[in-house]
Amino acid sequence: MPHAVTLIPGDGTGPEIAEATCRVLEATGVQFSWDMQQAGVETLAKQGTVLPDEVIESIKRTKVGLKGPITTPVGKGQRSANVTLRKRLDLYANLRPAKTYQGLRSRYENIDLVIVRENTEDLYAGIEFQRGTPEYEELLELIGRTTGHQIDPNSAMSIKYISVAATRRIVKFAFEYARANKRRKVTAVHKANIMRLSDGLFLSTAHEVAKEYPDIQYEDRIVDNMCMQLVQKPELYDVLVLPNLYGDIISDLSAGLIGGLGVAPGANIGNNYAVFEPVHGSAPKYAGQNKVNPMAMMFSGVMMLRHLEEREAANRLEKALMQILAEGKSVTYDLKPRPDDPSAVGTSQVADAVIERLRCL
Ligand code: NAD
Repeated sequence: MPHAVTLIPGDGTGPEIAEATCRVLEATGVQFSWDMQQAGVETLAKQGTVLPDEVIESIKRTKVGLKGPITTPVGKGQRSANVTLRKRLDLYANLRPAKTYQGLRSRYENIDLVIVRENTEDLYAGIEFQRGTPEYEELLELIGRTTGHQIDPNSAMSIKYISVAATRRIVKFAFEYARANKRRKVTAVHKANIMRLSDGLFLSTAHEVAKEYPDIQYEDRIVDNMCMQLVQKPELYDVLVLPNLYGDIISDLSAGLIGGLGVAPGANIGNNYAVFEPVHGSAPKYAGQNKVNPMAMMFSGVMMLRHLEEREAANRLEKALMQILAEGKSVTYDLKPRPDDPSAVGTSQVADAVIERLRCL
């Protein structure tokens, strides 16, 4: 039986990397029945939304999605399709491994981090207030009355909230992941010294959950210190669990440690559904140029194969990707010593090389 998977190519460079990724996934011999769904700037123009309901309905049917990046116009009031998708399907865990592979140009060796980011709350919950609206004025009045803080009405506000339930399940997810994947340590990352109530609740809940996993080391770090530590001594860290915003930032930082966004995969996982996508965005300036690196989405495909229990195919595809990286020939501009290196190949040629390699494995 082929695996039914919702395929969302996305926009910008998404369709090119999605096409390349589907080709290599099919070349593993695993059979897929793709349910192709459009989301992004084109559906915004045609249907007035970046995330049509059909996309959600399709994932509810197939239970698994493979997704290219989707552009979020900055400051235009349009909610991110990515954030909405994760919220509507309750894909509460964003799993972003960052691993150095031979051949990647990085300042570091032997990095093997796993970022577990809470995906549904925090400043990304999308609860925002615009200046001059009656509801914002009401909120400012309440804040003034209950806290004594007189906030400048010529301002706007985004709400950060963190719950015990969401923190418990993300920290448990991190520990369960650590246990299942034989990892040694979980580090909870926070800013509880300043946001004593919201991050404080995240931290105290994480401490509680950690007690249920005596076989796994546990510690916590303040997020600014964490950034410096990751740059100075990343080898000390293993699985990191973070609230939404810090998780987003630290996963890009970790992608930088291993050689760039072109090779950083991700998964959004909930109790019922899972959507696999690269960490990077739609890189719109390169759209349609057959230029960007499809490997981050291909590594996300490896994660999807494991989720579908196609372990042998996952291992073969990962091995093929590792070999291509180690050889450094059939790779895109971002993995070359200089971005204008004339020997860089295009998106689709990377897929050709991976497929060729899969035939020998
Ligand atoms: P981006 O990740 O799209 O690009 C930043 C830079 O990283 C690019 O200019 C390029 O130099 C490099 N890069 C990214 N992907 C690459 C690849 N596959 N190969 C080679 N180089 C690559 O980040 P951005 O410019 O901040 O965001 C562009 C749009 O993407 C925004 O609208 C943003 O909201 C959206 N975005 C979407 C997702 C998602 O769909 N999950 C994630 C992040 C950003």
